[in-house]
Amino acid sequence: MRRLLDSPWLYFGLAALLAVYTLSTFFELRFPARPTKGAEEIAKLPERDDLNIVFILVDTLRADRLGSYGYERDTTPVLDMLTKGSIRFEDVRAHSSWTKTSMASLWTGSNPARHGVHRFSHALAEEELLPAEILQQAGYETVGIYRNGWVGTNFGFGQGFDTYVSPRSKRNMERYKTSPTAPSGLDGTDLDATQAAVEFIKTHGGGRFMMYLHYMDLHQYLYEADSALFGTGYSDVYDNALHWTDRNISQVIVALEEAGAADRTIVVLASDHGEAFDEHGVEGHAKDLHKEVVAVPLIFILPFWLEEELTISNPVRNIDIWPTLLDMVGADPLPEADGISLLPLIDAVAQGDDPTPHAPTNAMASLDLTWGRVGMDPKPLVTYTEWPHRIHITNPDLDDPKTQLYDLAADSEEQRDISDEDRERARELLETTREELSELSKSATAIDVEIDEIRLNQLRALGYAIETPLQVPVEDTEETP
Ligand SMILES: [Zn+2]
Repeated sequence: MRRLLDSPWLYFGLAALLAVYTLSTFFELRFPARPTKGAEEIAKLPERDDLNIVFILVDTLRADRLGSYGYERDTTPVLDMLTKGSIRFEDVRAHSSWTKTSMASLWTGSNPARHGVHRFSHALAEEELLPAEILQQAGYETVGIYRNGWVGTNFGFGQGFDTYVSPRSKRNMERYKTSPTAPSGLDGTDLDATQAAVEFIKTHGGGRFMMYLHYMDLHQYLYEADSALFGTGYSDVYDNALHWTDRNISQVIVALEEAGAADRTIVVLASDHGEAFDEHGVEGHAKDLHKEVVAVPLIFILPFWLEEELTISNPVRNIDIWPTLLDMVGADPLPEADGISLLPLIDAVAQGDDPTPHAPTNAMASLDLTWGRVGMDPKPLVTYTEWPHRIHITNPDLDDPKTQLYDLAADSEEQRDISDEDRERARELLETTREELSELSKSATAIDVEIDEIRLNQLRALGYAIETPLQVPVEDTEETP
């Protein structure tokens, strides 16, 4: 017996059994636990007074790596199954390729120029009214579980949360793997966040709550051995990590079912940015704003199953997510959001009406190219999309800024810059962007905060090359976010 207990095979065997059990429990629970309804029922959600929100943010998730977005590998079997009875937005854009700027837009429902969070020391101001504050006021228990230091309380992201935690782990990490080139300095894995979420659902699932769960293992290219399905190359390891993330999400869904909360919870899957695999000469993110780093998934899993997936193909934006969610649960809106509620758009698609009048007409994204360089001047890169054109502008304040122009209808991957061929359209969009920026930045509220060495080291552990204030910035240092 002693020898058996010492054998690793016993533990692998138990883990495999547990995995099979979890999945089989999950599949059995899928249909019985929630009713199936027609899509016209979505418009009635705001009339309910019992709805919860579970907002799952998978850091660094590009849309085209999910099966439901057309990927040929089976990276996300659980999410793909759930999506079949849910709302899927096909064309979604984030507002930066760097976490902090992007998350500030997501939570405020505002374009980056309006909140002003562009650099490593910038924080959301106290006077920003965030969705968690609105829901807390409305009586929700609010909990945030995150593993990315850029959304820490010191940067203003904890506003309105009763509990806002970054879980610690003492787990033996031998079963977890990562790419040799990826940073591995984060404590624990996403399983710690999952376990904290499951514990919360077990203890609070009977009440009214909003949970924000921010996963990070995909950003770290980290996965458990059982998810090593797709190989060992850089991009393969990303897929392994996504499969592992999908397994984490399944545990949260199972917990909701087991707590009897699934038929009164909206579960949202979103991301802050994508990841580049050399489409435009770089790997990673927070280096430019091309499609591969701003095209993200968005899935709304409803408190009931739809007979079939409701696909929204109009382009939408991350700033629209919280105006939509607040609308869906009948809460007060964000007072100064640039984003709009997508509920009328969803309803139009559900009813077979023309969705165009209800869809957003433009999108903006921003990245300060020197965000991590202490003592260096900002170097803003801004994109503005007015279908079918998208312009990239470096230093829009300069008299003669560098621009790139793409025709997304003919070239969705942004491979052919047409700014020389269509100078008039480029000039027109440059002017529109400048006007928008000057209007938006009038009310920018971001503040500068001191970051101590401990926090800087935690952020460096994510792979961010942030200089200390004591170092002289080096112009050609490559950032590795
Ligand atoms: Zn991120």
